[in-house]
Amino acid sequence: MIVIKSQRELDKMRRAGEIVALVLKRMAELIEPGITTIELDKEAEIIITREGAIPSFKGFPNAYGGMDFPGSICTSVNNVVIHGIPGNTVLKEGDIISIDVGAVFGGYHGDAARTFPVGNVSQEARDLILHTEEAFKRGMEKAVEGNRIKDISTAIQEYAEGKGYSVVRDFVGHGIGTEMHEEPQVPNYATREKGVRLSNGMTLAIEPMINMGTWRVKVLDDQWTVVTADGKLSAHYENTIAITPNGPEILTRLY
Ligand code: MG
Repeated sequence: MIVIKSQRELDKMRRAGEIVALVLKRMAELIEPGITTIELDKEAEIIITREGAIPSFKGFPNAYGGMDFPGSICTSVNNVVIHGIPGNTVLKEGDIISIDVGAVFGGYHGDAARTFPVGNVSQEARDLILHTEEAFKRGMEKAVEGNRIKDISTAIQEYAEGKGYSVVRDFVGHGIGTEMHEEPQVPNYATREKGVRLSNGMTLAIEPMINMGTWRVKVLDDQWTVVTADGKLSAHYENTIAITPNGPEILTRLY
């Protein structure tokens, strides 16, 4: 079932989204060679709780029967696509790190991710980050009433593949609201399904995960960490958006 949100609900989602955006802004300030991913996690949790929200990811059940997610954010370095667990990993010059943040405020979730450079990074890493953001934008432009989910998926895939990258298949975007993952799924590639018709009041997390090499991924033994099958770099860009009569509105921003 797809839940259409009222203005009152959208206001709560804007607040949740604002908290997520605050965390990402702080992460951008903190990320530099020498910091550990657990330090970033601690700071993120402080901000989320200070703002009266709860980290959505902490304690999230594992899809494969493994441990619940231990962090407040996901910290995915270089070839890690998503779901990297914060820990003793020390960031070093030239790394890229994807930070995924989820917060629930007043019962409503916000979810967003960015990939950041650590110090000076290669031109190919910079390009990957920029094109992943642009792929998100191409997809978001299609998030208007009357279109289908497939219009979003196709726009993302065509842009990313047109730049010579590949699009992760095994993980997809999603509806979001009182649950972090609601219907519908929002793939970053065109499937045979046209998907549901979009209407005003739908809220979606659109989140291209774009790889330098193969689209294939594998899950490590911790049953969380998703890495590229060929060890090449991956980037992630996500916002929670609402479909409105004025077009798509990014909810995970500073209001
Ligand atoms: Mg998401």
